[in-house]
Amino acid sequence: MKVHQAEIVISAVKEEQYPDDRLPEIALAGRSNVGKSSFINKMIQRKNLARTSSKPGKTQTLNFYKINEAFYFVDVPGYGYAKVSKKERKAWGKMMENYFTKRENLKAAIMVVDMRHKPTEDDLLMYDFLKYYEIPVIVIATKMDKVPKSKRAKHVKQITEELELETKDIMIPFSAETGDGKDEAWSAIKSYI
Ligand code: GDP
Repeated sequence: MKVHQAEIVISAVKEEQYPDDRLPEIALAGRSNVGKSSFINKMIQRKNLARTSSKPGKTQTLNFYKINEAFYFVDVPGYGYAKVSKKERKAWGKMMENYFTKRENLKAAIMVVDMRHKPTEDDLLMYDFLKYYEIPVIVIATKMDKVPKSKRAKHVKQITEELELETKDIMIPFSAETGDGKDEAWSAIKSYI
């Protein structure tokens, strides 16, 4: 997909601020520091629209990026950052639940995981949460460039098994460094918008 327009429309702290133009939305979830901002930036070919390495766990906002006047990427704050207070964790959970359970414009979620490692306990929780609410999931296994070619298939298999991916869920190896997986990711996204 050729991205000719990408802009942040709002960093919403509450529901009333979510855009009301009814465009389809693709949410992005992932552990803090997994490479979610780099994924967004690579997809939309902007160096720095989604902030990379922003303070983990600090942002409790949903960031709505409007793409080509056609749909939104909705960047959800990263999870699994240990230094977050109980109160912040609660607020995060509430916001997540509210958005994922009620938002009619939400068409699918992209869950970004690190291809080098086994999914964490938080990754499993997030995946199960999305499945529980019957949200289609596209798993992006990022940082592929850091896994030797000969080992990639093994890592993909391990992630598929650990998450217990359903056959209809899509998993795409990706690298924000090289752009590998970008076309596949766009095809998957297009099938939902
Ligand atoms: P976020 O907290 O999930 O938004 O993570 P970032 O996008 O800020 O990425 C965290 C770190 O991982 C940064 O230093 C990125 O440069 C690095 N990174 C992200 N994606 C990739 C990738 O595909 N390959 C490599 N080698 N590094 C990556």
